[in-house]
Amino acid sequence: MTEAKDFPSLTGPELDGLVESLHHWSLSHGLVMYPPGFKSYAADIAPVTLYPTPFPRKAFEKALSVQQNFNRLYVSLASQFKSWLIEIIEELSKYDKDFTGMLYETYKKAVEGNNGKIPQPLSLGLFRSDYMLHKGADNSLDIKQIEFNTVSVSFGGLSNKVSSLHQFLNSSGHYDSEYSYPYYDENDIPVSQSLEGLSLGLKDANYYYNNEQDSTKTVILFIVQNGERNCFDQRHVEYELFTKYGIKSYRLSLEEVSSKTSINGGKLYIKKTMDEVSVVYFRSGYSPQDYESDPEQTWKARLHLESSKAIKCPSILTQLSGTKKIQQVLTQREVVEKFLSDVPKEKIDELFSTFVDIYPLDDSELGDVAKRLAQEQPERYVLKPQREGGGNNIYKENIPGFLEKLDKADWAAYILMELIEPPTYRNSIVRQNEVIRKDIISELGIFGTVLFDEDTGEIKENRNADWLLRSKLSSSNEGGVAAGFGCVDSIYLY
Ligand code: ADP
Ligand code: MG
Ligand code: MG
Repeated sequence: MTEAKDFPSLTGPELDGLVESLHHWSLSHGLVMYPPGFKSYAADIAPVTLYPTPFPRKAFEKALSVQQNFNRLYVSLASQFKSWLIEIIEELSKYDKDFTGMLYETYKKAVEGNNGKIPQPLSLGLFRSDYMLHKGADNSLDIKQIEFNTVSVSFGGLSNKVSSLHQFLNSSGHYDSEYSYPYYDENDIPVSQSLEGLSLGLKDANYYYNNEQDSTKTVILFIVQNGERNCFDQRHVEYELFTKYGIKSYRLSLEEVSSKTSINGGKLYIKKTMDEVSVVYFRSGYSPQDYESDPEQTWKARLHLESSKAIKCPSILTQLSGTKKIQQVLTQREVVEKFLSDVPKEKIDELFSTFVDIYPLDDSELGDVAKRLAQEQPERYVLKPQREGGGNNIYKENIPGFLEKLDKADWAAYILMELIEPPTYRNSIVRQNEVIRKDIISELGIFGTVLFDEDTGEIKENRNADWLLRSKLSSSNEGGVAAGFGCVDSIYLY
């Protein structure tokens, strides 16, 4: 196997010049984010790495190649096998009435209100499967899945910008102290097409909503959080939809939905303009906090949207298929084989090889094993509740104490996952006018888009939508970019 080249070792004026160029490029191209607690329109550059981070080519290609089968797997769960999914969700709802339970209730009400049928069987998934590298028995690095996200996947709009930034800094000679030649071979720094990919997924949904015709008469409704710091990531998708396809978008918070939209003959409209909405794209609604300001109003809004004929991205069932509990159950080979009965065995092997051990903490035999492992070897595990958005997990030695405080009857709401141990790299993170040169670890996300029928499981479009690399200091357990520990990175393939 070839070795990764070391990072450029710039210091003094060369380093200053590089950092200045990085800022100017980022500001010029909208690689930006609002600072915490922002009160004005002024934005900062998004936290990024100075250099692309090494990633083995073979592992990268595998992550890309397995994505469309992951898309199919989650389609199966939300369509042909939805009764299996619902059974698990009903069980989880007992532990988590206020969130999982409310989502499930909302789904049921939407179906009941439509004579027992899903108001819009077409469903759009914009997914992201996240991985870290892990050293196998033969010492080679392979991808292992952290989680599969089915709602509000972010950074598709910024990822392609970071890779373009690194590509530019390299090609223009900024990584070399002489400014004379590119430090890396340009072909080794891929530029992610994630912005194009996610936008195309939304365009697909608009097309199928309009009976397989491109139309600029219908619009896309982004459901967004109040005070979203990462709104530029979303705006890039909005602008791509408009410039490339002529499709207009609106942005509303859950709190605004009732007063600013209406349903007529099942169709969803923006009240002010009477524009018809083809797709409701959720960039909010994935965590309990998104409903907290006014639970009655916000849950009513979710039901209102779910009850309409607009295509949801995602539908409630598709959102729920992405819970950590489902991920745990999918580590059973026979379950995956059942859901992917028409996928060749080698492809299922490939998909399966990305899994680490995940255990339930319930009354099953496996649950007993997990309870013992959690007590005896907690340093090898992470404990996860059914939550999204970062900052919810319990790590290593904190696990036994956490479980002890929890009512034993609630343990089954958690899963116990083997810790993945990625290699560290001494890259530099640029954030808030600081260049932090420390060991980092990285998480690769592969985007996928899939448009399918929740009644029949028929797949209309299934696409790979390229990738994202996020990195964080190796000393921190979690790497939320917005939360302040992490940054957006790109890849140097070796
Ligand atoms: P969320 O849905 O909140 O993003 P994740 O499962 O992605 O939840 O966990 C959050 C973060 O915790 C990940 O980005 C990763 O940094 C870390 N993490 C999660 N699972 C593992 C694991 N098995 N091994 C190592 N780190 C993990
Ligand atoms: Mg997640
Ligand atoms: Mg995550």
